[in-house]
Amino acid sequence: MNNPLDSVRIQLSSAFKQLGYPESELERFLIPDNVEEHQLTITKDNGEAFTTTAYRSEHRNTLGPYKGGIRFHQDVHKDEVIALSIWMSLKNALVNIPMGGGKGGLIVDPKSLSKSELEYISREFVRKMVNILGPHKDVPAPDVGTTPEIMSWMVDEYANLTGDTTKATFTGKPIENGGSEGRNIATSYGGKVVLDSWIESQNLQTPLTVAVQGMGNVGGGFVQLLANDPRYKLVAVSDSSSGIYNPDGLDPQSVFNHKQSQGNLVGFDAQPISNSELLLLPFDILVPSALEGVINEENANHVQAKIILELANGPTTAQADKILKGRVEVIPDILANAGGVAVSSFEWEQNLKANIGPNLKSYPSSQPPCNLQLQM
Ligand code: NAD
Repeated sequence: MNNPLDSVRIQLSSAFKQLGYPESELERFLIPDNVEEHQLTITKDNGEAFTTTAYRSEHRNTLGPYKGGIRFHQDVHKDEVIALSIWMSLKNALVNIPMGGGKGGLIVDPKSLSKSELEYISREFVRKMVNILGPHKDVPAPDVGTTPEIMSWMVDEYANLTGDTTKATFTGKPIENGGSEGRNIATSYGGKVVLDSWIESQNLQTPLTVAVQGMGNVGGGFVQLLANDPRYKLVAVSDSSSGIYNPDGLDPQSVFNHKQSQGNLVGFDAQPISNSELLLLPFDILVPSALEGVINEENANHVQAKIILELANGPTTAQADKILKGRVEVIPDILANAGGVAVSSFEWEQNLKANIGPNLKSYPSSQPPCNLQLQM
C-alpha cells in the first residue's frame, strides 16, 4: 500500500532543495505540532459495542488556526492523516488563507452505520477532541465520508460542551446552521477555474475529453460543472463500486442525476468499466476525485491522459510524478482543490463576524500577515 507520508517526504525534499532550505529542517517540518489519537466506543442499534480509532493531526498554526477536514473511511490510518494535514498547511499558505494545516480521521465505513449510529459516533469524535478544537484553535470541515449534516451534529455537540455560540469551529455546515453559500460546490468550482485557466494559457484545442474518478461531493460537483461547457466532453466516470465509459460522450447532468437517484452508476446506458481501467483509458484530462495514491509507480507508465487535475488530495504518488514528468501535466492538489478551504475560510469569518456584532471588527486582530513562504 502507498503511504502518503512517503510522497510528502519526497515532494518536500525536492521543494526544500529548490528553495535552498537546509535538508536538516525537513524532518522537523514533517513532524506535526500535535497528533491526537483516541479510542471511540458506541453502542450500535443491535446493542453491540463498536470500538474504533479517531485521529486529529495538527501540523502547523503559523498562519492561523489548524484547518482541514475529517475523513470517515475504513482505510484511514495515522500516517495518512498526518500527510493530509501537511498538505493543508501548504495549501492554505499557497492560496493565502489565514489558517494552518490540520486533518482528522475515523476508521469506519460510514455506509455500515445507521443514521443514529453515525450521529452518535460524530458527536463522540467531538467529545474526545473537544480540548483541542475551537474557532481560534482548530477548525475541521467535511472530507471523504463526511457531510454537512455531520458538521451540523459536530458543531452542535461542540456548543453543548463549551457554550460556544459562534458555530465557527466547523465549516461546511448546512446553510441553515451557519454554513456559507457556495461551500458545497466550492472545491469542484475552484478546480474548474484552475483547469479553464490552464487550457486557456496553453491555447489547447477543444473540446477535450475528460474522465472523473469519484462521484462524491468533489467529483460529482465537477461533473455537474462540465454540463453546458462545450470545451469539455465527459467520457468516463467511476465511484467506489463501478464505472462507466462512452468515447462519444456522457451527458454530465444525466450521469449526476443517475448517481443521485440510484446511489451508484450501475444501469447507466454506457460501457461498464472498473476503477483501475478508467485511469488508463485514452482521454485528454483525468480528474481523480476520490483517494490518494491511485496513480502510482505501477500504473503511471500506462496513463494516456495529457493533463491530471488533482481534485483529490495526493492522488498521484511522488514516484508516479517522476514517471509522468514531461509527458503529463499534473495540476497539483494544493492548488486544484483549494476552492473548498477558501470558501470554508469565508464561512469561518462570517460566523465570527456575526458574533462580533454590528462593528464587524476584523478578526483576529493579531493575525500575522500571510505570505507564500514556508513557515517552519
Ligand atoms: P466523498 O466521500 O464525498 O466522495 C468520495 C467519492 O469517491 C465517493 O463517490 C466514493 O464512491 C468514491 N470512491 C471511494 N473510493 C474510490 C475508488 N477506489 N475509486 C473510485 N472512487 C472511489 O469525498 P469528497 O469530499 O468528494 O472528497 C474526495 C477527495 O477530495 C478527497 O481526496 C478529499 O480529501 C478531497 N478534497 C475534498 C474537499 C471537500 O471540500 N470535500 C476539499 C478538498 C479536497
